Amino acid sequence: MLKKTFLLLASLTLISQSLLATPIKRSEQDIDKEVTHLLSKMTIEEKVGQMTQITLAVILDKGSRETGDGLVIDKEKLKKAIHTYKVGSILNSTATALTVKQWNRLIKEIQDEALQTPNKLPVIYGVDAIHGVTYTKGSTLYPHNIGLAATRNLKLAKATAKATGKELRATGVRWNFDPVLDLGVNPIWSRFSETYGEDTYLTTQMGVGVIQAYEEDGLENTTAVASTMKHFIGYSDPANGKDRTPAYIPDIVLWEKYLPQFKAAVDAGSSSIMINSASVNGIPVHGSKRLLTDLLRGELGFKGLVVTDWEDVIRLHTRHMVAESPREAVKQAVDAGIDMSMVPKDFSFYELLVDLVKSGDISEARIDKSVGIILKLKYQLGLFDNAYHEAEAAKNFGKAEYKNLALKAARESITLLKNDNDILPLPKNAKILLAGPTGHSHAPLNGSWSYSWQGDVEANYPENEKTILDAFHRAVGKKNLITHTYAGFNNEKNYDVEGLITKAKKADYIVLALGENAYAESPGALDDLNLANNQMALAQAALSTGKPVIVVLAEGRPRIIKDIVGATKAIVQAYIPGSQGAQAISDVIFGDYNPNGKLPYSYPQCTGDFANYDRVYLNDIQQLTPGDMSYNGYKPQWPFGHGLSYTTFAYSNIKLSSKTLKGDNKLNISVKVTNTGKFEGKESVELYVSDLFASVSPAVKRLKAFKKINLKAGQSKQVNFSISKGDLTFVNPKLKRIVEEGEFTLAIGSEKINFHYQF
Ligand code: BGC
Repeated sequence: MLKKTFLLLASLTLISQSLLATPIKRSEQDIDKEVTHLLSKMTIEEKVGQMTQITLAVILDKGSRETGDGLVIDKEKLKKAIHTYKVGSILNSTATALTVKQWNRLIKEIQDEALQTPNKLPVIYGVDAIHGVTYTKGSTLYPHNIGLAATRNLKLAKATAKATGKELRATGVRWNFDPVLDLGVNPIWSRFSETYGEDTYLTTQMGVGVIQAYEEDGLENTTAVASTMKHFIGYSDPANGKDRTPAYIPDIVLWEKYLPQFKAAVDAGSSSIMINSASVNGIPVHGSKRLLTDLLRGELGFKGLVVTDWEDVIRLHTRHMVAESPREAVKQAVDAGIDMSMVPKDFSFYELLVDLVKSGDISEARIDKSVGIILKLKYQLGLFDNAYHEAEAAKNFGKAEYKNLALKAARESITLLKNDNDILPLPKNAKILLAGPTGHSHAPLNGSWSYSWQGDVEANYPENEKTILDAFHRAVGKKNLITHTYAGFNNEKNYDVEGLITKAKKADYIVLALGENAYAESPGALDDLNLANNQMALAQAALSTGKPVIVVLAEGRPRIIKDIVGATKAIVQAYIPGSQGAQAISDVIFGDYNPNGKLPYSYPQCTGDFANYDRVYLNDIQQLTPGDMSYNGYKPQWPFGHGLSYTTFAYSNIKLSSKTLKGDNKLNISVKVTNTGKFEGKESVELYVSDLFASVSPAVKRLKAFKKINLKAGQSKQVNFSISKGDLTFVNPKLKRIVEEGEFTLAIGSEKINFHYQF
């Protein structure tokens, strides 16, 4: 009875606190005034505490770390973090997902304590909700960025981000460590799936759209969260392909391909930025004043919060060996320009920075800048008005419409790579054998940051979420489906070649669900991009039966499958399609949906050949036999932008408003697109620009615009674009973006036309 009364009282306070305030919109001036006033009252310790971020595990009761459901905060540890170390920010969770209520309670306990500090400074909590909200039961998971990029549908990508922001805010967390703006240029890198692929323009469009979706309602509102563009800069192309290892990217390339998306994201008003853990050209980015202050604050004009990545301050000492002591590491990172340190497992940063400021090695004015930025963000997010979860926000969790959105996004991402003799879609009354390791598991379809960091805990996935097997059952009925796919990616029955051959005897078609199990960050490291031997053996066995084989790939990066491509009749790229991915795959395979995704990367054919589509002309020229030149250096398995449909599209009638583009004018381009096939379908119409001659070797072509249209069978549409000189620029050796006069080619589908640019 006593316990019940206590619980009732506890939930009443939770409700009343969450109802405390409706969002208050403050002017920037008012916030600045409040911040200045607060700063004048704060001690050095309080200020440094604001710059300190710890992970949740630091304040949890030991026993609750792994059990999730009952995550229990250790009161003493919490008090120590908040009152002794004056911590201003917390991140993350453990390996098990919490309910929204549990999140709300956790945040309440933390804020209750934080609001008892002398200046009542709320904590800002951050989480990686990078494809839907992770660590949270009942949240909806969408395709990873690599799949969203394949949709070429900005509105759809924004809608998934908006829904994610709302569900995140419902938990009480208001800071999202998303979006990833790194370029997916090296497919062996384990975070490839978090990127929007290899193209800067596509990454910029998607990244900016997602930032707007998170923040455009105004951070004080319950439908918004603060975004984090990451990881600044050059993180995604490490020389050896391994996560968090050195990249060597000449400045001219860094400025040309890796900077524009961050510049655009700064202009779009992203609230925070996270720094690349590794080094670029020998300099760890966390210690680079040139990159963090001169470039980011100076040239790009970023005014928001600079947060480090995991443990990356101390690692200037322990990994990068550029700081002789942990104290020197803190000094270097703060001097370079970081505002908040994701320490996150201890209080060393706090102790060292307090000492550095007290001894005068770092000025108080310097930390005031960072603390001012942190407090400002807390004000903007409404945390000073109501630090608890908001009742209004809670209403936005778990809406049925999110499932439809996830299905729509998964369907539009799926990319049909090969379809010999229109073998797909399959008839629903044929006998289908479904086999392979990704056919009856959730982890491969959801990937990293799915309820847990690695996303590989099958028990975390909702019971009613379909696997490919479940979706196929629903589509064709049990009697038409022969199954040879088993729960658990690593289940050895999935690799039983003999069983597959026996079962194939009764089948008309074999659908092989191949790909990768879930992984995140460094644990996803690969030494070999070839699809694993046991999967290739399965595919070879399927092909040896003589039955038509269809391969479905659920993979975050393009694994090499050259040896089976020729004999396989159809290949479907599903990327990491999320919670509705199985349904979307089934819809495509059986013709309930006409695929329209386009590759956001060049799918390599061989492990030694990772060319990107925007290579320079010189890349294409090879002397394969003495004296004999070949002009075919770009030979991926499938190029960037490839993606088939069940219908066909023809391009014609490309027209320009003028043969010369002058100065700051615009050039209008139109093209006619016709659906020449039998089915209604969507087509992403893409415009590429080639600069024919320039003082720096120009890219063979670059994507500069895309529009997705829907056409009924036989229907035509005129699609209009316009470009201006900004689309013709490139970075010169002085790292300035310039345009030169001369001849350019525009290409849309099969259509090409030339024009001249004149100053
Ligand atoms: C990752 C970041 C992430 C952070 C917090 C790091 O290991 O590199 O992308 O935001 O952890 O979870």
